[in-house]
Amino acid sequence: MGAPKSERPDAFRDSLATIDRRGNRIWVYPTQPTGKLYTARTIVAACLLAFLFGAPWIKLNGNPLLLFDIGHRKFFILGFIFWPQDIYLFVLGAITLAVFIILFTAAYGRLFCGWICPQTVFLEMVFRRIEYFIEGNGPRQRELNRAPMSGTKFIKKALKHSLFFGLAFLIGNTFLSYFIGINALLELISSPPAEHLTGFVLMCIFSLIFYWVFSWFREQACTLVCPYGRLQSVLLDTNSIVVAYDFRRGEPRGPMSRGGDRPGKGDCIDCGACVKVCPTGIDIRHGTQLECVNCTACIDACNRAMRGVGFPPGLIRYASYDTIAHGRPLRFTPRMKLYTAVLSVLVIVFSTLLILRTPVEATVLRAAGSLFEELSSGAIRNVYTITVTNKTADKLPVTLRLAGANGTLSLLGPELDVPPQGQRESVFSIEIPKASLFTANSLITIEVFSGDKRLSTVRTTFVGPEPRRNP
Ligand code: SF4
Ligand code: SF4
Repeated sequence: MGAPKSERPDAFRDSLATIDRRGNRIWVYPTQPTGKLYTARTIVAACLLAFLFGAPWIKLNGNPLLLFDIGHRKFFILGFIFWPQDIYLFVLGAITLAVFIILFTAAYGRLFCGWICPQTVFLEMVFRRIEYFIEGNGPRQRELNRAPMSGTKFIKKALKHSLFFGLAFLIGNTFLSYFIGINALLELISSPPAEHLTGFVLMCIFSLIFYWVFSWFREQACTLVCPYGRLQSVLLDTNSIVVAYDFRRGEPRGPMSRGGDRPGKGDCIDCGACVKVCPTGIDIRHGTQLECVNCTACIDACNRAMRGVGFPPGLIRYASYDTIAHGRPLRFTPRMKLYTAVLSVLVIVFSTLLILRTPVEATVLRAAGSLFEELSSGAIRNVYTITVTNKTADKLPVTLRLAGANGTLSLLGPELDVPPQGQRESVFSIEIPKASLFTANSLITIEVFSGDKRLSTVRTTFVGPEPRRNP
């Protein structure tokens, strides 16, 4: 957007700000931001962290608020249980979420990255704050890192990394609790590692990964790894709201003279404050860049600089390129209209399927290796297995009935008393008089009842001998 200083206006796009010409990492030492947006982000981060650490302990209707129990093949979302049979809801939910993200990004840019993404929240609001507290602001950290090892440096580094690892351990354990449940986690923590070797190894791996990400990898997770970050170039357009430098107002930039006169100059006083606070090491005055996570630190820094020289704030602000370059307000573009229409349809379909989801799911399969049996009574018998999934919070005693066919259904396996959010399997047989069969494969319907209430119906085939044809 703005006029850069390099010979080629877009030379900055050839490389990442945190990697030098030889491919080595350039460590970023951002100055801690101060300002209204930083305070607001701190409040939002505190709420998000409270939710993240508190959610595994919260139950709704006796179910976990959020649990992705892959081992037992059931997920809990907002207290609702989802089984593998609900996979279609997951697929539809994932597509709906993807369209929502595309629409949201097209309109509001990387708002999510700066305010909600756990990577930014943990790095900027937790780990970096600890670093500021122990090692001082950005320039002090740089000095400390360049200084030879001393007693003070050793103590500071040891304290910082101990705290980092302790926090990573806490995050790793919390992360694990979303997959195994808080009770299993507490058991894991209170038992000797040998009793839960897999859980213990997972706990260590998660802790080490989080420690490595937040102590060393840092902003590279956003610029090199995050697929959402890499997609920005196709999701954003000139109408998207991003953290943007108002180059029409700021350029040509130049330092303040003693008298404060700025003939022919824009409002950017070239103080560099926006660059110093940037956690990804970029200069927002070059325009929208892949590395910018929309953290708003440069807005706060620039507003402070503007106030210092008596200029109005907002030289860097949330705005679209169209607004800055042409003074156009945010428009509901055809692309956004299309996304909104698709999203509306998806939300309606998803909500309808969710509401109509049956509380009980029954899966009937022919017993392995069996076809049919001809009985001395003249009846044909087929044997089936049934799996009944109870998605409710109540115990369900289930009975089976054969609907609309001249035959009998007998339960051969255990009673189907299905526990809340549980499954039961059993075996049953169906006998139908041979005279009632007009084809080798008859379609039959089995009804699943609890008391007098029909919960579900299942269609399956009944196999018999080929009926004799009249000569
Ligand atoms: S350019 Fe501004 S908003 Fe973007 S990452 Fe840097 S400080 Fe944050
Ligand atoms: S903080 Fe504002 S005034 Fe200072 S260099 Fe950045 S854009 Fe220019």
